[in-house]
Amino acid sequence: MDFLKNEIKFLSGVGPKKAGLLQKELKIYTMEELLYYFPYRYTDRTKFYSVNQIREDLPHVQLRGKISSLVTAGEGRKQRLHAEFYDSSGSIELVWFKGIKWVKQNIKPNTEYVVFGKANMFHSKYTITHPEFEEFTKYEAKIKSSLQAEYHTSEGMKKGYLNSKVILNSQRNIFKAMPAKVPESLPKYLLDKFKLINLHNALRNIHFPKDAEELYQSQRRLKFEELFYNQLSLIKQKKLRVNNTPGYVFSKVGNNFNDFYKKNLQFELTNAQKRVLKEIRRDFGSGRQCNRLLQGDVGSGKTIVALMTMLIAIDNGFQACMMAPTEILAQQHFTTISELLEGLDIKIDILTGSSKVKKRRELHEQLENGEINILVGTHALIEDKVKFKNLGLAIIDEQHRFGVAQRAKMWKKNVKAPHVIVMTATPIPRTLSMTVYGDLDLSIIDELPPGRKAIKTNHYYDSQRLRVFGFIRKQIEIGRQVYIVYPLIKESETMDYKDLEDGYESISRAFPSPQYAVSVMHGQMKNEEKEKAMQLFVKGQTQIMVATTVIEVGVNVPNASVMIIESAERFGLSQLHQLRGRVGRGADQSYCILMTGYKLSAEAKKRIGTMVSTNDGFRIAEVDMQIRGPGDIAGTQQSGVPFEFKLANLVKDIKILQVARQTAIEVIEDDPNFEKDENNILLYHLKKMNKLKNRWGMIS
Ligand code: ADP
Ligand code: MG
Repeated sequence: MDFLKNEIKFLSGVGPKKAGLLQKELKIYTMEELLYYFPYRYTDRTKFYSVNQIREDLPHVQLRGKISSLVTAGEGRKQRLHAEFYDSSGSIELVWFKGIKWVKQNIKPNTEYVVFGKANMFHSKYTITHPEFEEFTKYEAKIKSSLQAEYHTSEGMKKGYLNSKVILNSQRNIFKAMPAKVPESLPKYLLDKFKLINLHNALRNIHFPKDAEELYQSQRRLKFEELFYNQLSLIKQKKLRVNNTPGYVFSKVGNNFNDFYKKNLQFELTNAQKRVLKEIRRDFGSGRQCNRLLQGDVGSGKTIVALMTMLIAIDNGFQACMMAPTEILAQQHFTTISELLEGLDIKIDILTGSSKVKKRRELHEQLENGEINILVGTHALIEDKVKFKNLGLAIIDEQHRFGVAQRAKMWKKNVKAPHVIVMTATPIPRTLSMTVYGDLDLSIIDELPPGRKAIKTNHYYDSQRLRVFGFIRKQIEIGRQVYIVYPLIKESETMDYKDLEDGYESISRAFPSPQYAVSVMHGQMKNEEKEKAMQLFVKGQTQIMVATTVIEVGVNVPNASVMIIESAERFGLSQLHQLRGRVGRGADQSYCILMTGYKLSAEAKKRIGTMVSTNDGFRIAEVDMQIRGPGDIAGTQQSGVPFEFKLANLVKDIKILQVARQTAIEVIEDDPNFEKDENNILLYHLKKMNKLKNRWGMIS
């Protein structure tokens, strides 16, 4: 049996107890899994501080000296052990609350020790709690590198004496016990081509680097491996899907499309919109299922493109549906699309969670007999009860709120899977579209409709509110409308409501009726009330809309040209960008005003600064990922695909990702089933990624 597949409890120095902890806390079962548990940083363990050099802001210090006294204090569970540790420059205190017996037995007088830990000032004396310590002579024999690996450990692990040092020792023991080198995981021709070091050395050196160069080469090799297999798997899946998922053929463009184009479409499509339509039509005609991610910045005109693709479906005898993440947005789409289709013989309806039973019954019937051509709705659409006569196309708007599993349900709505187009609310970084959405084809609308004036964004402090009110008055005087948005605090809905209420009160005072009319909208309102408030604003009967982020997605009121965001420091970047996208939809100059308090964190400053300096959603998405890291980008959590890698970093390693992706494409093109001898290894390692495969299996 392969040594690396052995359970970790058989490793010397680990044993059943620590093995249990590794399983529980880190999901590490085998030797191999431990080898792939990588350090998160390296510390220079050849460097020693002297006691008088200690400062509290040092993350850790390593000292060399002797212990002069050991005193136990307290009783029972409050017992602790104090040691006085000194070198030629002074002394500090070491403290233990746990493992006291063991420490007492193991500390010898008149012996030189190396002590390592974080020093804190306590009663005007520096103290290290639970330091690592070791006899200097033993330590010296072992430490050969200035880069000593450190591993993340949980509280539970620390309690079980499973610290970073134990993990490092276990890694050493694995290499000692290993009967042969770690088998290679990449074909030789790739190692040669990219000058990558072999797997055995990479794994050894990432835990025990001699110097920075060795470490760099190990990381480079392991990052490539990680990203390459991720891409290989995604591209292979995509190929399987493309080859194995037949799609309905929409062979023609018919009357509905043509009439709409000639009579109803009020503007010329942008080149980007035309290009994307072409890409989608090519899919429709191919006989294979279209499975496409449509990306475009806020206001780039994704809705029109979606509508036109639905018309093609109808022209070919199929039904189409459009799923939105919220009732408000579904309602908005329904209204917009109904208006756009005026005069055409197309029946469109809406289904949401709040649709009444009687209406639902009617609707189910009309869907099944084919009377309804387009159904707009929320996730109520994917319930099993909802059956179509002949669904040919499903549009999923604002993908980030739906998961892969929900997409999969759409696939089952007809004999063959309908075509699926997924639209994102805001752009996502390139690296994420390559990894998280790597199985979808990608279309990008990278152009805004002409004549749009760039939204001007300014940052004001709360104390400048009167100036901002003055500005609002002037805008209303010239006929514009204004949004004022308050943050939604998840932890406390009542507090959220209070913020909004206070805001509404002060706005109503500053903008009294009958001269002004103010609408209000928040999450606690009933849907009809929300809809009523929205309609008043849409019709221009109110000039100010005070709201929480319920208006965030997709709301379209072209005459609204000012967006005021209160407590802007509490919003994330993509949310700010989404909110800003609610204005700038008409021909007028639009403004976005970010209100904040004086005290801003560094991150908040960066977010606000980014908003003020650019309107480019793709650029904002990149900054957002730099700030928050890929794992936190809204919604990708639900996508069911790993987006966080062990080693690779989607912000920093885009070059490696690009090479890995290109290589994966070439390999699959050259040898789609990995039948060549040199590619056997690929098949073996792809199978290892079974977990991922199973999840994808749900769809294909
Ligand atoms: P989003 O991509 O954010 O969903 P929408 O589809 O809501 O954008 O479009 C925003 C606004 O731009 C809408 O009012 C729409 O009618 C308008 N629009 C879309 N395409 C064009 C175009 N080619 N020329 C002019 N206006 C357009
Ligand atoms: Mg939209």
